[in-house]
Amino acid sequence: MSKGLPKRSEDYSLWYNELVKRADLAENSAVRGCMVIKPYGYSIWEKMQAQLDLMFKETGHSNAYFPLFIPKSFLSKEASHIEGFAKECAVVTHYRLKNSEDGKSVIVDPEAKLEEELIVRPTSETVIWSTYKNWIQSYRDLPLLVNQWANVVRWEMRTRLFLRTTEFLWQEGHTAHATRQEAIDETVQMLNVYAEFAETFMAVPVVKGVKSANERFAGAEDTYCIEAMMQDGKALQAGTSHFLGQNFAKAFDVKFATKEGGLEHVWGTSWGVSTRLMGALIMAHSDDSGLVLPPKLAPIQVVIIPIYKTDEEFDQITEKAKEITAKLKSKGISVHFDKRDTHKPGWKFAEYELKGVPLRIAMGPRDLENNTIEVARRDTLTKETVDLAQIQIEEYVSEMLDLIQKTIYQKAFDFRTEMTTEANTWDEFLDLIETKGGFLSAHWDGTSETEEKIKELTKATIRCIPLDQKEESGKCILTGNPSKGRVLFARAY
Ligand code: AMP
Repeated sequence: MSKGLPKRSEDYSLWYNELVKRADLAENSAVRGCMVIKPYGYSIWEKMQAQLDLMFKETGHSNAYFPLFIPKSFLSKEASHIEGFAKECAVVTHYRLKNSEDGKSVIVDPEAKLEEELIVRPTSETVIWSTYKNWIQSYRDLPLLVNQWANVVRWEMRTRLFLRTTEFLWQEGHTAHATRQEAIDETVQMLNVYAEFAETFMAVPVVKGVKSANERFAGAEDTYCIEAMMQDGKALQAGTSHFLGQNFAKAFDVKFATKEGGLEHVWGTSWGVSTRLMGALIMAHSDDSGLVLPPKLAPIQVVIIPIYKTDEEFDQITEKAKEITAKLKSKGISVHFDKRDTHKPGWKFAEYELKGVPLRIAMGPRDLENNTIEVARRDTLTKETVDLAQIQIEEYVSEMLDLIQKTIYQKAFDFRTEMTTEANTWDEFLDLIETKGGFLSAHWDGTSETEEKIKELTKATIRCIPLDQKEESGKCILTGNPSKGRVLFARAY
């Protein structure tokens, strides 16, 4: 229940953890760093998946599935890739257990050692490019546009429900192209798909940008990303799209016969979003009463709650609720009539507030008399009484859901605007990062050393070099060396 949910202003991270658990989204499991996604949380993830999957297919991609295990030698074929992932790999060394000699426990059977150790995939470039070698021979085989929905494992040291877990669910797109430009266009196209998804469906505004060398994906030539602002002023990387150049094609010897009769390495991309998006959704909109879900991703968009004393009243309300439900369903709106008699209306109100259901319709005896309903918005926590004779309920609710979607987005957008500040001196930067947080737009001399130094001193990292950043010469806030444009710094999840 919302009663007792910690306040954001007092302990944001406790508020987040409690909310995730109490809203029945996810919980920690017996395995450190791995979560159980509960049915309500999973149903939101499924809505995200369905929409993203549609968008991937609309842009010409097909789904496939590759193995969970990657031979160790594959992972080492691309030098910077293995360097980046080595520290967080789970390794399978044996394939059998046996009883210990005293019979009291089960041990790994030393005789069942794998000839080649297997890595539980932290990402699938290597196993996929080893397959692409067989799939691609000529320019006629290109472009190859494949996506996979899967789980991956990265042995993270500091984990947090949804935002950073050891095992997480994601999709990873892996594409191969005949030219450099086509691969870059694909990378940017998928970045745009992610941004559109985040803004239109999650109602989370994002900055599109390119990562600095320090934050680039291991094995990529360029990493593009979308960055979102959370309510505590910290940034969250919400999705990445990588231009891989010919790195993996060279590592796995993937060549194609060109139209002109030559033989060339193909160009690659990969792109992914994960269950971290659930964290972004929760952190961007929710409040001290619980979850606030954008209607486009809410598993239940409208809940109807009856308020009654007698059986007769209940029957009459049920009749009316059924009518309304049928009308809303005809418009594709998901409705739940909560007729449980095990809980009081007040309890239910709080419960659906906690779960972030965008609209609540309540109906009592007086409403029956007057042909009215009480409609409450989750995002603003406001209520109004609506005369059913004056409206068409399905139109009314559908417009209201659109309005809620827009209002939630605008609120997050205004917050981000307020939390994006230009810092022009080092003192200003230090002061802002401590007192205000958010995105700091500042000049940087372009070197990894300066970026490292700033991170060491302030815990702020370069989130991205925004794609729409205008050229503007200035001086690096730390070193005073020349800079060609501002980049976005923030403390991040
Ligand atoms: P990457 O392959 O590193 O570019 O990551 C792809 C996507 O997965 C990005 O959107 C990341 O934000 C997300 N991601 C990376 N590590 C984790 C993790 N430990 N838990 C959840 N999401 C993650």
